[in-house]
Amino acid sequence: MRVLVAGGAGFIGSHLCESLLHSGWEVVAVDNLITGRLANLASLLDHPRFTFIQHDITEPLDLDVDAIFHLASPASPVGYRRHSIETHLVNSLGTFHLLQLARRRSARFLFASTSEVYGDPQIHPQPETYHGNVNPVGPRSCYDESKRFGESLTMEFVRTFGLDARIVRIFNTYGPRTDPGDGRVVPNFVMRALRGEPLVVYGDGKQTRSLCYVSDMVRGIRLALELEGLAGEVINLGNPDERTVLELAQLILELTGSSSPVTFAPQRPDDPVRRCPDIAKARRLLGWEPSVNLREGLRMTIAYFAGTLDHAPAPGA
Ligand code: NAD
Ligand code: UDP
Repeated sequence: MRVLVAGGAGFIGSHLCESLLHSGWEVVAVDNLITGRLANLASLLDHPRFTFIQHDITEPLDLDVDAIFHLASPASPVGYRRHSIETHLVNSLGTFHLLQLARRRSARFLFASTSEVYGDPQIHPQPETYHGNVNPVGPRSCYDESKRFGESLTMEFVRTFGLDARIVRIFNTYGPRTDPGDGRVVPNFVMRALRGEPLVVYGDGKQTRSLCYVSDMVRGIRLALELEGLAGEVINLGNPDERTVLELAQLILELTGSSSPVTFAPQRPDDPVRRCPDIAKARRLLGWEPSVNLREGLRMTIAYFAGTLDHAPAPGA
């Protein structure tokens, strides 16, 4: 089997490439490195079944592949604000090009969507049947709305051409190889704790997130593509262990043994107040649920960031 991983030099994409290679697949990673890093693929570049192609998927491409994982998109709020137009385009035009490639090659297709399609949810926890509460013109909309468009386009290829495509809605994921400067909460808090700098909480810190360790996420993504009979399915993937941002800050301080203070800054516009996946469908269709608990996952993540301290950029704002 030859598989394309779009966004393969990113955080989740690089772990996915590694996992697929371990299982004997031939892997082609395509990435324009807008938020990804070639360093994430350092241990794979010489692998005989691995190829890296630097390419922007908003331009057409042709490759002989049996399956496509489409993970290409800036993912952190700081990243997609910085690259807002590119985010719109990769999830719309980029998705279109990859869907066309899948159709030409009769390849199976997976679109990595996001819990952000639920916006600031009014239903809790969020099941796949919830249609969301998104501000279509707010500062997060380049991401939320383009992912919603990508989902819609993917479903049109299923309905119109019978493409075997699946959609996963990924909830907050963390772990080694997250870009320490990408501004997400785990890298920011861990890097600041390790450096003895203040952990800055936006708002009152009572907003919640549910954090999934990357190895669990990769296992879920693979099942969602590899299992038979899931064309047109939309599946939440995330860890339902819901925590406040303040709780997370305190846990990271405890695990790093840091005496950094916690300070407060204004809430980000449209920052979702509560987020937690309903994973009943993933349990039923994939037999999947996360197995790495937050303490264990944070310990592995802290060890990774501690190893990058000498050359890492400052945490993102
Ligand atoms: P990431 O930024 O580390 O990885 C995304 C990769 O896509 C990067 O390597 C980037 O360079 C590449 N890319 C972006 N635009 C591209 C383009 N036009 N052409 C080719 N490559 C391009 O982010 P991540 O956390 O690994 O996220 C991977 C996917 O999962 C994204 O689609 C994201 O929306 C989705 N997701 C992630 C999370 C999370 O918590 N990590 C949550 C929800 C959804
Ligand atoms: N956050 C914070 N301090 C930081 C980074 C993030 O308080 O240094 C908060 C942010 O306001 C949000 C939550 O942590 O409520 C998760 O933010 P992140 O950027 O990781 O991703 P999001 O879930 O918002 O996409």
